[in-house]
Amino acid sequence: MLVAGASIAGPALAHWLRRRGAEVTVVERAPELRPGGQAVDARGVAKEVIERMGLDAAVRAACTDTAGAYTVDANGQVLETFRADDDGGDGFIADIEILRGDLSRVLYDDTRDGVDYIFGDRIAELTQDAAGVDVVFAGGDRRRFDLVVGADGLHSGLRAMVFGPHERFLRHLGHVLAFYSVPNEFGLDRWLLEYQDQESGRSALLRPIQDATRAMAMFYFTSADFAVDHRDVAAQKAMLRARMAGLGWLTQDILAHLDDTPDFYLDQVAQVVLDRWSSGRVGLLGDAAFSSSPMSGQGTGLALVGAYLLAGELAAAGWDPDAGFAGYEARMRSFVEANQEIGRLNARSRDIPGPAAEPGPDFASEWFTDLVGRALNGVELPDYAGVPDSGA
Ligand SMILES: Cc1cc2nc3c(=O)[nH]c(=O)nc-3n(C[C@H](O)[C@H](O)[C@H](O)COP(=O)(O)OP(=O)(O)OC[C@H]3O[C@@H](n4cnc5c(N)ncnc54)[C@H](O)[C@@H]3O)c2cc1C
Repeated sequence: MLVAGASIAGPALAHWLRRRGAEVTVVERAPELRPGGQAVDARGVAKEVIERMGLDAAVRAACTDTAGAYTVDANGQVLETFRADDDGGDGFIADIEILRGDLSRVLYDDTRDGVDYIFGDRIAELTQDAAGVDVVFAGGDRRRFDLVVGADGLHSGLRAMVFGPHERFLRHLGHVLAFYSVPNEFGLDRWLLEYQDQESGRSALLRPIQDATRAMAMFYFTSADFAVDHRDVAAQKAMLRARMAGLGWLTQDILAHLDDTPDFYLDQVAQVVLDRWSSGRVGLLGDAAFSSSPMSGQGTGLALVGAYLLAGELAAAGWDPDAGFAGYEARMRSFVEANQEIGRLNARSRDIPGPAAEPGPDFASEWFTDLVGRALNGVELPDYAGVPDSGA
């Protein structure tokens, strides 16, 4: 099997496919495993998947160890406090909170010996017939695979190739997020600090990371559209500087490190909505199939759970693509929809208030509590007894 993308969904799928008996190649466009990104969380049922992978200890060892979060005003005075153990560890700060790059490294290290990883390449052409998929790589190699899965993120090249242009599936939620690491000259110690400017809809955030000499910065702003190329880092930095002009608190000190940071990531807050996550022998997983946006706090959880179910359903169906992809989709879809709903509500709650604004959601209502329950745990993880499992 061929998997495109080696971030979270790709290596997690490689883990499960290999355990179910498949031979797996992963192709990643970047020349090496990509560092960077803010903390990503594993909540609810995703924690169970990490345990079944046997990676609980490795993941916890790489966690951020954040004690909680303070929201502050422009002078740094604390407004609200959230503790990591609120809501049984599934709250605003999850008890499994790990930098995206660190989780990607744990998943890669776990699979690198049994999986063929190719960095610095991508699928350039793909043709499928009833028995397999012929792939031409941009680097020139030609190979045939039984199945191909795109785990290549929000702007998935495989999705564009097989399912249609990005505009058809990408829903921009009106916000943009940026992350990069900075020297910890701010005295940050296990507590995350967030400053929100309600009037302009912008926020700045500093998060402690395992390396106490550094901190992870995040900026957030509203933007009705998103016209910057997602690979043009210079244009993204210019956009960030312009949009953060005049924002108070520590913003200008954090921006002073924009040019010397080793990792920078900026992207629109967007969701991916597709009627089907497979076409013949080609399937999609993770953000490529069903991004719920960082506003849901569940992009990683969906990728991990989806990887477990996709490999399990394909193996249980004897690797028949129709039955395997259909089983995966039937199990995942309502879980994905609940998380996308939360992502949309969270994004809307951060819209700048105005006469045309829709009323904000009531986060204290019973209905919302029920939705959160479905978003965290509303999916069954079969144990796939009888299906091969080399790691059992
Ligand atoms: C550098 C980076 C930083 C991120 N930071 C955050 C963050 O701070 N907070 C957050 O909530 N989410 C972040 N995300 C998104 C988050 O990782 C996902 O929401 C979630 O974990 C699901 O992961 P995924 O593997 O489906 O997609 P992604 O994590 O987006 O990974 C997709 C992978 O596919 C690769 N790729 C892209 N195109 C191709 C291609 N044509 N062929 C082969 N490979 C390709 C990419 O380089 C990447 O490694 C980040 C993603 C990346 C890549």
